[in-house]
Amino acid sequence: MKGGVARGGLRRRLFIAHLLTIAAGAITLLGVMLLLAPGLHDRLMVAWLGPHWAATADDSMIEMERATNAIFTQAMVQALTISSGAAMVVAVVVSFAASRRVAQPLERLVIAARRIAAGHYRERVPIQGDYELAQLAAQFNTMAATLENAEQRRVALIGDVAHELRTPLATIAGYVEGMLDGVVESDEGTWVLVLDEVNRLRRLVGDLQELSRVESGQVALNLTAVTPAALSAAAVARLEAQFAEKGVTLRTQVAADLPLVSADPDRVLQVLINLLGNALHYTPVGGEVTVQAVRVGDAVQWCVRDTGIGIAAEHLPHLFERFYRVDKARMRATGGAGIGLTICKALVELHGGQIWGESAGLGQGAAFFFTVPLFHHYK
Ligand code: ADP
Repeated sequence: MKGGVARGGLRRRLFIAHLLTIAAGAITLLGVMLLLAPGLHDRLMVAWLGPHWAATADDSMIEMERATNAIFTQAMVQALTISSGAAMVVAVVVSFAASRRVAQPLERLVIAARRIAAGHYRERVPIQGDYELAQLAAQFNTMAATLENAEQRRVALIGDVAHELRTPLATIAGYVEGMLDGVVESDEGTWVLVLDEVNRLRRLVGDLQELSRVESGQVALNLTAVTPAALSAAAVARLEAQFAEKGVTLRTQVAADLPLVSADPDRVLQVLINLLGNALHYTPVGGEVTVQAVRVGDAVQWCVRDTGIGIAAEHLPHLFERFYRVDKARMRATGGAGIGLTICKALVELHGGQIWGESAGLGQGAAFFFTVPLFHHYK
């Protein structure tokens, strides 16, 4: 017994229900036959002997008629009792198979659900039985796969976060221990290095918090009708100085008469700034970055294209995964934690758009595209 329900109870109840149906049928058959048979017999006899036979018949004939009536009824009762017994035997076999056919897949589901609840997310059930049961089993397997995937992501995330925190913490510990032991000078230069690592940790924690807010749906979009040109200009204005400082040219090619998009301007700006920041980061001095926007179907498609280091084809499908960096060691020292594009993807998808990256290969520059649906009046 578990949860107040006996194991195998459904199978037994189905079995008993089948038997009761057959038994009720047999009893009704017998009862109705006993009620109707004598009357029917008499009527048939009258039909055979003629309507006036009783007036001319002697006592022995009447006695004979009564006797045949009793024998007829008895024969019927015996025949029905034997055939009911045979029907019950067949019913036992058939209802056993039928109740097993319905109950077995359900019992398997119960066992599998119990194992999943206990944390065994690999559990699956065979897809068998009648249409509805097979559908239930297929849906159950889909749910189990989703749970397994979520669990794998959770475990991977904990591992990734621990890994990301370990490096800056080890560096900070190294400097501080070095200063305590007198091996490293306790001067401004060392403290600046320590502060760099602290800031890296702070950025990482901030990015993680932002990612968790966006992915858990806590970020509510403030959708309004936004002018693509104004949005692009705002992003460019934010980063112009940094581009000039590094010596990378920043161009804008956005037509002023593009239709309005339905967007949260702060969030789309965040995506554009992130892509422009990456482009600046991965483009060497003397390079060029262009922001473009064009109408494609029912959306405006932005593109941030650079002439930087480019991306090898095998990395392109993974760029938007959490903590994914093309060159892990180098990017850890110079770039972010590999969460920026993951946040961009979540934000763009929240708007109902898509985001992807393209590159002809290493040294060939890269281009990042994203779409934002048009404001409904313009569709
Ligand atoms: P990060 O914070 O490390 O830049 P992102 O999620 O923004 O993380 O980017 C993931 C990875 O994609 C980067 O580590 C880098 O390897 C690659 N990448 C992103 N933008 C570009 C670009 N414009 N050119 C080349 N590589 C890029």
